[in-house]
Amino acid sequence: MIDIGQFCDNKKITMNKNILLTMRVLCIFFFLTSCNTSSQKVHTTGVDSTGEKANSAVQRVLTAEERAKLTPDQILQQFKEGNERFRTNNSTNRDHSAQIRNSAVGQYPKAVVLSCLDSRVPVEDVFDQGLGDVFVGRVAGNFVNEDLLGSMEFACKLAGAKLILVMGHQHCGAIKGVIDEVKLGNLTSLLAKLKPAVKMSEKFDGDKTSKNEAYVKLVAQNNVRNTIHNIRLKSPVLKEMEDKGEIKIFGAFYTLTKGELIFLDQQ
Ligand SMILES: [Zn+2]
Repeated sequence: MIDIGQFCDNKKITMNKNILLTMRVLCIFFFLTSCNTSSQKVHTTGVDSTGEKANSAVQRVLTAEERAKLTPDQILQQFKEGNERFRTNNSTNRDHSAQIRNSAVGQYPKAVVLSCLDSRVPVEDVFDQGLGDVFVGRVAGNFVNEDLLGSMEFACKLAGAKLILVMGHQHCGAIKGVIDEVKLGNLTSLLAKLKPAVKMSEKFDGDKTSKNEAYVKLVAQNNVRNTIHNIRLKSPVLKEMEDKGEIKIFGAFYTLTKGELIFLDQQ
């Protein structure tokens, strides 16, 4: 510490010592106050965020009793509300480790979703659903063949799901592929299954190419309608369940730009 008082007379030395002492006390006071405030802020923030996470994260999974009380329309409503949460960045906080443990003993999913392969459509996420909530079938172009129909029959008739949702999406590569008549290995026969959607869209007034987003959207939405038509046509099991009101079948179109689900009219 520099003793500036050594250059002054005794009176000034005494005065300067008093000023220095006061300044030191004030410095120590402000230092301690500052440390206390910042440590309180860090502590509070840490406790709040950790505490919230630990306390509010969903650990439970859907039970048989809870699912039994749900109607297909209520499940659809839950999906709509879940998409609203996802779209607005308010998705449910889930404790995945706990849900893994809690779902290991059994599953009671309320719905089966058929989606495209696209990496930008994370199915459970876009509905804000968790482990054990949804059966998911995925194939490029979200069409059905007997394997997917068999999977849906298992999901609904044997495992108790009450809603089938077929979900197409914006900017779908498979839809663009069928419009462009892409030929490549096994992809050729896959894309052939989407051709009815192109036929259903032949009255489109405009440029019918994969560069026209409005046309690609129409073909993608008609492809969802065609898939639903095929579910009813090729699965007497699911058709009967639908006729009895045990399940409902809906179509939706997911927009990559907004994360929004548009539910399609039935045909
Ligand atoms: Zn796609």
